[in-house]
Order: sequence, then C-alpha cells, then structure tokens
Amino acid sequence: MYVEILNFTPNPEKTVAMAGKLCYSPSRIKNLKERIEKEKIKDFIHKLTSMGHFSPLEHITFTFGIEGISRVASHQLVRHRIASYSQQSQRYVEYEHLEYIIPPEIERDEELKSTFISMMEQAHKIYTYFLEKNIEAEDARYVLPNATATKIIVTMNARSLLHFFEIRCCHRAQWEIQRLACRMLKLAREIAPSIFEKAGPKCLDGIEYCPEGKMSCGRPFSLKELC
Ligand SMILES: Cc1cc2nc3c(=O)[nH]c(=O)nc-3n(C[C@H](O)[C@H](O)[C@H](O)COP(=O)(O)OP(=O)(O)OC[C@H]3O[C@@H](n4cnc5c(N)ncnc54)[C@H](O)[C@@H]3O)c2cc1C
Repeated sequence: MYVEILNFTPNPEKTVAMAGKLCYSPSRIKNLKERIEKEKIKDFIHKLTSMGHFSPLEHITFTFGIEGISRVASHQLVRHRIASYSQQSQRYVEYEHLEYIIPPEIERDEELKSTFISMMEQAHKIYTYFLEKNIEAEDARYVLPNATATKIIVTMNARSLLHFFEIRCCHRAQWEIQRLACRMLKLAREIAPSIFEKAGPKCLDGIEYCPEGKMSCGRPFSLKELC
C-alpha cells in the first residue's frame, strides 16, 4: 500500500482558526487575520472542536494519492460520501499484469497463499482470454476478484476526515481500510497536528468509551499504530 498527500489547503490551522474566530468576532477580516497571527491557534482549535463547532474544519481539504489497495478497500472507502474520488477505471485500463492484495491471514499460511495465488492467476488468464476474443475490458473485468489492486485519488475536508478516522482507524474496521486510514491520519497529523492530534477512534489512548458496545474489541487504540 502506498499513500501520499498530494495537496492540502495552505495554512490549514490558521484557516480553521480564522473561520472559527469570525463567528464570534465583530472584527473586520483584515484585523482578524492579524489577531489570529498573535493568538494561540492550537488552543483555539481545541476549544472549537471540544464544543462541537466543527464547520470551520470544512474550509480545509487534503488530497491523498493511494495505490496498492484492493477493490475491497476502495469500495469501503468510497462509501464515505463527503469526499471526492477519482479511481483508475477497469473499463479503460486493461491489466497486462494483474496486481492483487493477499490478506495477511492467508499470506502467512504457505498452502492457503499458494491456493490464493493460483486462483488469481487463473482469473487473469480468463480475463486475458476474453480480451483476446475481443470482449471489451468493461465486460472481461467481471471475472476479476475483489483482491485486484486499484489506484485512487481522494480529497476530503478535515471534518469528514475526522469522521473517517474515527470509524476506520477502529480495530473493528477491516484490516486493510484500517491500515489505510492509519496511514492517512499519520500524514494529516504531520501537516495539521492541532486538528488531528486527537483524531482516531473514541477509545484513543484508553478513553473508556466504545461505540461498538458489546462488539467492542476491548483493545484501546494507540497512536503507536500509525505506522
Ligand atoms: C465497522 C463497519 C462495518 C460496516 N458494515 C457495513 C455493512 O455491513 N454494510 C454496509 O452497507 N455498510 C457497512 N459499513 C459502511 C457504513 O454503513 C457507512 O456507509 C460508511 O462507514 C460511511 O460512513 P458515513 O455514512 O458515516 O460517512 P459519510 O458518507 O462520509 O457521511 C458522513 C456523515 O454525514 C451524514 N450523512 C451523509 N449522508 C447522509 C444522508 N444521506 N442522510 C443523513 N446523513 C447523512 C452522516 O452523519 C454521516 O455520518 C460499515 C462501516 C464500518 C465502519
């Protein structure tokens, strides 16, 4: 899995603080900008988020380039509607070689792994055979498994990202989307630490609350998991 931040709103923390301050201040925008420079932006952002005033977070966006995730993970990702996506097309791009993701549980067992690989090779063989018989890629792709690797560019605003990290960094999320969410969180934290410092599942660092209730994994999430 490869994840990078391709772009983000310049001065993200200052932009959020400005938007928040504007709500409570009679100042002109110009004066507000000067005040923000002097104020403690980090403290103000914490105040905003702790009181549930999240709309200022919608003014900043992050664009991620993602490669080497399965169609399983990308399907889970695109269920997040408050975002923009561009995904490599299986209609217009033909697979000369088939890249795919093997779940770790299968990969660590040699026998299961080799069954998995031979099934993927067989699927690719049939796919190629269909293309040779002049079947369009958009139809030949029906034989490709969920494990097939994909590439996607995602843009989300910070509010939507916080929600995404809350439910997808959780241990109860599937391993691949969890891994992806943790990578994205790590990168976003490097750019805007005061916004993403406390991002992640509700159980972050042992807070004793889990929305999963009886289905809780019982293992609080730790920032050390952002590998
Ligand atoms: C552990 C786990 C298991 C899951 N299992 C399944 C499953 O078995 N089957 C399945 O289909 N999905 C499943 N999902 C996907 C899940 O139901 C959501 O579709 C997905 O997580 C996107 O979340 P969201 O809708 O909150 O995010 P977004 O689409 O980004 O929306 C963000 C927020 O905006 C608001 N919102 C957005 N659109 C609407 C709307 N139309 N009406 C009202 N409010 C809206 C909501 O508050 C929402 O939380 C699972 C997700 C998780 C984390």
